[in-house]
Amino acid sequence: MISNNDINTRALLVGVLNNLYDDTTFEELKLLSKTAGVEVLGESIQRRNKIDPAYYIGRGKAQELAAAVKTLGANAIICDDELSPVQIRNLEKLTEVQIIDRTMLILDIFAQRAKTSEGKIQVELAQLQYMMPRLTGKGIELSQEGGGIGTRGPGETKLETDRRHIRRRIHRLKQELKEIQKNRQVIIKSRRYPVISLVGYTNSGKSTLMNALTDAQVVTGDRLFETLDTTTRGLILPDGRRVLLSDTVGFIRKLPHHLVEAFKSTLEEVKEADMLILVADGSSPVLDEEIATVNSVLRELEAHRKPTILAINKIDKCGQNAYLKGYDREKIVEISALKGLNLDILLKTICEVLPSSRQFAQLFIPYDEGQALDEIHQHGLLSEIEYKESGIKVKGRIEKAVLKKYEEYAIEQ
Ligand code: GDP
Ligand code: MG
Repeated sequence: MISNNDINTRALLVGVLNNLYDDTTFEELKLLSKTAGVEVLGESIQRRNKIDPAYYIGRGKAQELAAAVKTLGANAIICDDELSPVQIRNLEKLTEVQIIDRTMLILDIFAQRAKTSEGKIQVELAQLQYMMPRLTGKGIELSQEGGGIGTRGPGETKLETDRRHIRRRIHRLKQELKEIQKNRQVIIKSRRYPVISLVGYTNSGKSTLMNALTDAQVVTGDRLFETLDTTTRGLILPDGRRVLLSDTVGFIRKLPHHLVEAFKSTLEEVKEADMLILVADGSSPVLDEEIATVNSVLRELEAHRKPTILAINKIDKCGQNAYLKGYDREKIVEISALKGLNLDILLKTICEVLPSSRQFAQLFIPYDEGQALDEIHQHGLLSEIEYKESGIKVKGRIEKAVLKKYEEYAIEQ
């Protein structure tokens, strides 16, 4: 049997570009390709407003591409967008090599990086859901013989390519994920300290900031998606409060929808966080777009209304600047995580922004006090509810004002 890693993908990169934003996306495609271990033989850019429905690039351009593939000895073409099954089929027929789109490439990187069983399940689920409608293409046949990008499952597994099996497997993975999620909910709700989530574009410096503020020693680096699993560490704020800081997977433009779907459980941390620090790379030429990308994923996770600090990072590289107007929702702090600049200001700002009014408590509420239970539910995050003979025992983090109101029901922990 051939191992997936033995197959070297030698690819031409192709993009349909329209503006500066697309240009940086294409730059990112190169970085993604390298991260996936692809040998890039050349690139072909087409400047046009609209993507061709049949060939992605125009038919003429596709024919040129087919010739270039032969000349350069490429065995794959990587496109900068997610392609339709028709586009993939047509391009494959014309060029006679495997067509890889941006989504497949990102999924492949995630497949190589996933470490925890949850991460692996999430990636495989996203891969299978992506593959389902595309199963008739030649790419699948090719890759069944060969390997390489698009066939690699998380860890050592090879992706199943039979439709019936896939359906069954998707079902099973979803069940498994549900189990893990249940456990996660219990863990999240039983924590005693507020959680601050670091979110941001990939490579913005989240892990570097995590290391600067705690002793986490998370791996950082210029490879994309260095962090797939969430790391959480304790931190004591200048005002004495103890909090948990968690580092999450970074976001990227054109993030495959299935991937966001599948990763919702990892990103549950973000959803349940008490506040967010949105880390952005101040030296990026498309800073605004990167922040917009992150905000749109946050909206999809329904985490966009949380108290948020916008941390403009890497000011050692780009200088301090008041470039950001119109972000009145967030407090803005300019920092350098790498050089440790303005981290004191960041910490002070966290103290201001972090809601302070919740406290861990345990209460016993008599059954005729239904109103009290309602109110506590609304103003707290309960980890345990126990129905006893004469009343209900609850445990969790509850708004101080509400606790005061019902202090007669408080019991020893
Ligand atoms: P993440 O993907 O958001 O976790 O980003 P990382 O923390 O892994 O950092 C990505 C790259 O940016 C690494 O090469 C870091 O050394 C670099 N980096 C992070 N913070 C800073 C900073 O404040 N200044 C500079 N110049 N580089 C930084
Ligand atoms: Mg990271």
